[in-house]
Amino acid sequence: MNFDFNDEQKLFADSVRRFALAHLEKDALKRAHDPRFPFDVAKLMSAQGLMGITIPEADGGQGGTLMDAVIAIEQVAAVCPRSADVVQFGNFGPIRAFAEYGTAYQKKKWLTDCLAGNAVMSLGMSEPDAGSAVTDLKTTAKPDGSNNIVNGAKVFSTFSPDAVVFLVYARFGPGVGGIGSVLIERGAPGFTIGPPQEFMSGEQWCELHFDNCRIPAENVLLGPGGFKKQMASFNVERLGNTARSLAFGRYCFNQAREHAGVRQQFGRPLCEFQGLQWKFADMAIKLESAQLLLYRAAANADQGLPSAYETAVAKAACNQAGFEVAHEAVQIMGAAGYSKSSLVEYCMRRCRGWMIAGGSVEMLKNRIAEHVFDRRFDQRPLRRQTDAAK
Ligand SMILES: Cc1cc2nc3c(=O)[nH]c(=O)nc-3n(C[C@H](O)[C@H](O)[C@H](O)COP(=O)(O)OP(=O)(O)OC[C@H]3O[C@@H](n4cnc5c(N)ncnc54)[C@H](O)[C@@H]3O)c2cc1C
Repeated sequence: MNFDFNDEQKLFADSVRRFALAHLEKDALKRAHDPRFPFDVAKLMSAQGLMGITIPEADGGQGGTLMDAVIAIEQVAAVCPRSADVVQFGNFGPIRAFAEYGTAYQKKKWLTDCLAGNAVMSLGMSEPDAGSAVTDLKTTAKPDGSNNIVNGAKVFSTFSPDAVVFLVYARFGPGVGGIGSVLIERGAPGFTIGPPQEFMSGEQWCELHFDNCRIPAENVLLGPGGFKKQMASFNVERLGNTARSLAFGRYCFNQAREHAGVRQQFGRPLCEFQGLQWKFADMAIKLESAQLLLYRAAANADQGLPSAYETAVAKAACNQAGFEVAHEAVQIMGAAGYSKSSLVEYCMRRCRGWMIAGGSVEMLKNRIAEHVFDRRFDQRPLRRQTDAAK
C-alpha cells in the first residue's frame, strides 16, 4: 500500500499549483467576495485543461481520473479558495451527470460551452417541500406531443443567477421510479427566475419557477427510472464538496500556522503557548484522517463513479474536519481571522454550508448506519402509524 502520489500525480499537482500562483493568487480576496460566477477564471482553467478532467476526450474532456480532479481542486483551493468553485463546476457538478448520460445532441448544445468556460449549468433538485427527502419532489414533466410540460419550483440552486441551462429533477410519474431529469434553458417559455437571495457564505441562488414550461422532448436527460443513475453520478458532486471542505480547512490551517509563528503576545510567538499547540495537533489529526478517506473514495472510483458508502464516509469526515479546523483557525488568529480582510472567515462560512449541501452530515450518517447494520432504515413514518394518525 502506498499513501503517496505517483510521479504523474506529483507533476500534475505541481503544474496546477504553478498555474494557480501565476493566475489566481492576486485577486483571491476580491474573488471570494464577488457572488457572480468567475467566467474569466473558467476560461483560464479551460485553456489549462482543468475543465472536464474526468470527461472522455471524445466529449471534449481530458479523459483523466477522479483523483486527478481532486488534486486539481485541492491545489487551486490552496491558492484561491473561490476559484475551486470553478473546478467544482467543470468536473464535479451537474456537468458530470450531464456528460455521463447526455445525448450527442445535448452535449453538442451545452457541454462544449461549459467546458470552454463560456457557460455555467445549475442543478435544480431541492424544492420548498423536498430537501433531505428529495424523492418527495413535486415538479412534474408531462409528455405533450413532441414536448414536455414542466410545472413546479426549485430552491437553493448553486450558480442559478448565472446559469444558461438547468439540470432539473422532475417527476414523470408517481414514486421514486417516476423521477427523471430534464434540461431547461434560461428563457424557456414558462420558466421564471426569481431575484438573487444570499446564503451565509455570500453565494447567491434564485428561486426557479416552472409554469407550464414547454421544453422539447430532446431535453429529457433521464426519463422515468433515472433517479438511481442521477444519484450515482451525484456522488461525484458530493466528492467535490468533500474535497473543497477539506481544502478550505487546510487553507485556514496554513494561515493560522503562519500567523501563530509570527504573531507575538506576552513577548512570545503564539505557537509557543501549549493551549494553541494542542489545537494545531487536533486540527492536523482531523485533516490528515479525513484526507485519507477522501483519497480512498476518489482513487477507488478511478475513471468511474465513486461508491456511495465511501463517498458518505469521506464527505461526513471532511465536512466536519473542514468546518472545525476553519472555526479553530479563526479563534487562533483572533480578530485578524474574524476580519473580512482575511480569507479564513470566508472559508469557515463556506465550510458551514457543505455540512448541509449535497447530503447533510446527518443524512450521510444515516447512509453509513445502513452500511454498518447491512439493512435499510426507512426514514418515513410506518404506514400503520400514519394511518392511525389519520
Ligand atoms: C451552500 C448550499 C448549496 C446548495 N446547492 C444546491 C444546488 O445546487 N441544487 C439544489 O437542488 N439544492 C442545493 N442546496 C440545497 C441542499 O441540497 C439542501 O439544503 C439539503 O438537501 C438539505 O435540505 P434542507 O435545507 O431543506 O433541510 P431539511 O431537509 O429540512 O433538513 C433540516 C435538518 O434536518 C436534518 N434531517 C432531515 N431529515 C433527517 C433524517 N431523516 N435524519 C436525521 N436528520 C435529518 C437535516 O440534516 C438538517 O440538519 C444547497 C444548499 C446549500 C446550503
